[in-house]
Amino acid sequence: MGGLLAARALSEAFDRVTLVERDELGAEARDRRGVPQGRHVHVLLPRGSQVLGSLFPGIADELGAQGVPHTQLARQIRFVVSGHRLVRGHLGPTMLQPTRATLEHAVRGRVAALPGVEFVNGCDVTGLVSTGGRVTGARFVRRAGGGAEEVVEGDLVVDALGRSGRSIEWVSRLGFARPPEERIQVGIRYASCFMRTPPDALAPEQGILVGPVPGRTRAMAFMACEGDRWLLTVAGMAGDHPPTEPDALMAYLDTIAPPDVREVIGKSERLSDVVTHTFPASLRRRYEKLRAYPDGLLVFADGLCSFNPVYGQGMTVASLEAEALRTCLEGGDRGLAGRFYRAAAKVIEPAWQLSAAGDLALPEIKGPRSLATRLINRYVARLHRVGATDVAVADAFWRVAGYLDPTPALLRPKVALRVFTR
Ligand SMILES: Cc1cc2nc3c(=O)[nH]c(=O)nc-3n(C[C@H](O)[C@H](O)[C@H](O)COP(=O)(O)OP(=O)(O)OC[C@H]3O[C@@H](n4cnc5c(N)ncnc54)[C@H](O)[C@@H]3O)c2cc1C
Repeated sequence: MGGLLAARALSEAFDRVTLVERDELGAEARDRRGVPQGRHVHVLLPRGSQVLGSLFPGIADELGAQGVPHTQLARQIRFVVSGHRLVRGHLGPTMLQPTRATLEHAVRGRVAALPGVEFVNGCDVTGLVSTGGRVTGARFVRRAGGGAEEVVEGDLVVDALGRSGRSIEWVSRLGFARPPEERIQVGIRYASCFMRTPPDALAPEQGILVGPVPGRTRAMAFMACEGDRWLLTVAGMAGDHPPTEPDALMAYLDTIAPPDVREVIGKSERLSDVVTHTFPASLRRRYEKLRAYPDGLLVFADGLCSFNPVYGQGMTVASLEAEALRTCLEGGDRGLAGRFYRAAAKVIEPAWQLSAAGDLALPEIKGPRSLATRLINRYVARLHRVGATDVAVADAFWRVAGYLDPTPALLRPKVALRVFTR
């Protein structure tokens, strides 16, 4: 997703954009090896849905025609957070609810239609090409082709290889320092499967999200998606991992799901095997703090920051990075890496703060808690409690969680007054 979104921004500034991808990509929307996280719930937050719509006009309708739900966040998602079920809010932010495979397929189709864009699939990127401290291309090997290294040259190389992209090592071999890192050990595992519920069993709700609480580091998401299916994801943090055996998974779910939801899941048909994904730690690489970095190279999306997935931030942040890249490219090539990393850091910072604060609200997660973090977490826990009955407070939270308002919006006087007095 990062590579596709970056390509959208790059295609405005360069005559030719080449996407080199490890997987062979068929004509159909499919889960694939290179994106193992794609088989689990992948929420595109309202802000991400908006940015995607502005980068690819009409994509929401295109997805809608494929049966992708278009959900009223505050009215059709049941959100149980800090142990409190938020009251239904006003009509407001909406979000698209495709599976990751369908979303990526639609975005790839749009990117493929851009002038000058070329896909080179089934190839492993193996290194960089550089001259005089400037990156001038990338090396790759065709998976089916017997191993001879080939080179794609470029004025700019973007590493969108995900969290484990290796440009960090390739650049350090050129003599540049590695970026400082921040890490929060969340030790989370997802277990997911598709289900078919009895007709309209949860209507008008299109999704149920239950977050972890101190003492129970378990969470769940049950989300409607295209194909008249629901995707169930059960998650456990701090090593309290969900089992994969279906009956044991249901027993684990008993400790998280609201009883009516658990009953519907019990009556639903399981359409797929249970698959898992383990995510050890949220990881932020502070490229903006480096004094020296090679020209001609940028790291993008999860390579910059990969967040604890329970907050559903990664793709929305990547779409905002694409907007930032577009603006930086308008300013030309000079100092591009520094300008982009600073702009990306502004996008990442609030998302990182939001997820870090959420993680550190759980005593089971290790990490330093400043006085400010502790005070904010107490305030937010109270806000969630008030949001169980107060629509204005719940709406304010929805907007921040959906990335439509900055986090300080939760401290605005009209919200804070209600939080403290109710
Ligand atoms: C379990 C889980 C659940 C998540 N849920 C959400 C969610 O609800 N909402 C959300 O917004 N985000 C979510 N995310 C995050 C989201 O998946 C990423 O933020 C998003 O995909 C952007 O990542 P990316 O483009 O950097 O990397 P990826 O999407 O992982 O893509 C990396 C690409 O690089 C390719 N590649 C890797 N190495 C090579 C190589 N050497 N040569 C060639 N190609 C290579 C891979 O095949 C892949 O296509 C979740 C993540 C996880 C782990």
